[in-house]
Amino acid sequence: MTPFLLVLSSPSGAGKTTITKALLAARDDLGFSISATTRPPRSSEVDGVDYHFLTPGEFERRRAAGAFLEWAEYGGQRYGTLVSEVERVLAQGRHVILDIEVQGARQLRERRPDVVSIFLLPPSVDELVARLGGRGTDRPAGLEQRLRRAVDELGEAHHYDYLVVNDDRTQAVAEVAAIIDAESRRTRRQQASLERVQALRRGLTELVATLSRPAEQQGKG
Ligand code: 5GP
Repeated sequence: MTPFLLVLSSPSGAGKTTITKALLAARDDLGFSISATTRPPRSSEVDGVDYHFLTPGEFERRRAAGAFLEWAEYGGQRYGTLVSEVERVLAQGRHVILDIEVQGARQLRERRPDVVSIFLLPPSVDELVARLGGRGTDRPAGLEQRLRRAVDELGEAHHYDYLVVNDDRTQAVAEVAAIIDAESRRTRRQQASLERVQALRRGLTELVATLSRPAEQQGKG
């Protein structure tokens, strides 16, 4: 089966990182494309595992050298998918899962027609606000900016191949897994099965030829 690129996007707070991690833990036919970014690591993040953390100069050098399949600016920082990451995962025979924002997803859809894209939706306004830490009267710093960005991001949702509502995490993971399974079975991605079709046709053609010979020739050689 020919592996493909699976893009997951969502507004921040709609759970794409959690869902990506759950899928990677559950399935060995998936590998993660470790993005490059200029933003500093968070306390739990490890360079080369969560991201390749680059200086702005190094990011620019790689961009100019054509190292990125796509890149975008988000929240004042740069993020990009390295061609080498996508190739590393494809070479393992795995589908490449990319947790990227909407501008990058758009570039990928234009450059790689075989990409499968999924947009994860928050179940409601209240739930999104709550997941961003805005429960009750809490208004964390940056909440308004993130909500504004969510409005823009949701404006891109209709360009994606699939929409999945992340109401219940287990259910959302199961729905994404079902999409991966169905996309894996697309005819164009199943070279081995296409060869089996040819073998079946050859076998059946030979059988029909035998059956259509006059009775006295059958069995007498
Ligand atoms: P964060 O800084 O919270 O890890 O990510 C911020 C946003 O950047 C998220 O929407 C994430 O999906 C997106 N992002 C992460 N890596 C890439 C990438 O390689 N390319 C693009 N275009 N967006 C990315």
